[in-house]
Amino acid sequence: MTHGVNQSRAWFERAAAATPGGVNSPVRAFQSVGGTPRFMVRGEGPYLWDADGNSYVDLVSSWGPMILGHAHPEVVAAARAAAGAGLSFGTPTTGEVELAEEIIARVEPVQQVRLVNSGTEATMSAIRLARGFTGRSKVIKFAGCYHGHVDALLAHAGSGVATLGLPTSPGVTGAQAADTLVLPYNDLDAVRKAFAENPDSIAAIITEAAAGNMGAVAPLDGFNAGLRELAHEHGALLIMDEVMTGFRVSRAGWFGLESVPGDLYTFGKVMSGGLPAAAFGGRADVMARLAPTGPVYQAGTLSGNPVAVATGLATLRAADDEVYRALDANSQRLGALFTDALSAAGVAHHIAYAGNLLSVFFSEGPVRNYDDAKNSETWRFPSFFHALLDRGVYGPPSAYEAWFVNSAMDEAAFEIIEAALPAAAQAAAEAVK
Ligand code: PLP
Repeated sequence: MTHGVNQSRAWFERAAAATPGGVNSPVRAFQSVGGTPRFMVRGEGPYLWDADGNSYVDLVSSWGPMILGHAHPEVVAAARAAAGAGLSFGTPTTGEVELAEEIIARVEPVQQVRLVNSGTEATMSAIRLARGFTGRSKVIKFAGCYHGHVDALLAHAGSGVATLGLPTSPGVTGAQAADTLVLPYNDLDAVRKAFAENPDSIAAIITEAAAGNMGAVAPLDGFNAGLRELAHEHGALLIMDEVMTGFRVSRAGWFGLESVPGDLYTFGKVMSGGLPAAAFGGRADVMARLAPTGPVYQAGTLSGNPVAVATGLATLRAADDEVYRALDANSQRLGALFTDALSAAGVAHHIAYAGNLLSVFFSEGPVRNYDDAKNSETWRFPSFFHALLDRGVYGPPSAYEAWFVNSAMDEAAFEIIEAALPAAAQAAAEAVK
């Protein structure tokens, strides 16, 4: 059990005075689970330590980037070396070429990439490029998919938008939202109908290659292939958002598992090694429309930052087949432990996988879209979450987020999880609506 949370509580009070809600990204505030967000001071391998000295097995992994665990020696050494050589030049650098080449070598449909600073910037830029390339304005997205806080893509989004129950965000204008067609995930008929009703005006379909922001919801067989076919039949591009799945679910991300090529890709998280870096890329003829070779403008003072590039490259270079085997095995083992404990406590549940991303849904399943996810007994989640947290297991503080394993998880980490789960399952069983 924890030593208490006095320090975290005190920091949260200070934080709330200085920053809206005390956090720099909404889900961190614990609003949907209640209680005090933990202020972390250190991470090593599969563990985090908070300001009160409590340790946790980390099943969030910084929302994806830390596939190797925290403070991996090779990644830290790369950061130190890069920082010692200067923090930012605002010029081309050798490292950014190597990172771009590593991404291109891993994901076959990606012929060129441009580095940016966040997944949000990547999707925003990919959408602008798709509009510039096709000369069209409308974009199809799917309910429950989250593509960052791009104005036009906040409609019916997942992640924090789902956690806070927002249909869309105030501040997004009618004009921005009007060009976004929101359709149910895993429903090709809805996509067919949207193209029929909007002839020659849809620039792109953007989809999470496998959804991870309404919980982990894999595309049904043939869904992504159908999206590609429909997009091309109607002169639109397919943008595969692999910010979450990229370089996590396989060497080549979701493309490595399904081999359905997108025209454009967005990446972030793992390829950054934990510093702010992201990318978008794809077909060379589309990427050629970007400035300075083409007219579609896109830029960034810190894009390709040498320290972020160094940590991203070190992470990808260390992420070999053994790491991917460990991620898959750890995810399956965690899911089996969830099932054992929840079954023993008599809690209806469904462990959903999208590659090695996983989620706990409190329903029998299957969960194929955002409506299915919302129809699960999400009110059981806060009790489950807090019972784990009190016993040293840090899960995502929202029923709509995926759980992210890392390759540093060892026997000791699994023992802590296994010891914590019976009480957490019992808490979920006893939760009241
Ligand atoms: N796209 C997907 C699929 C994501 O999961 C996220 C973030 O979770 C983003 C885009 C936005 O990335 P960022 O938070 O780096 O802006």
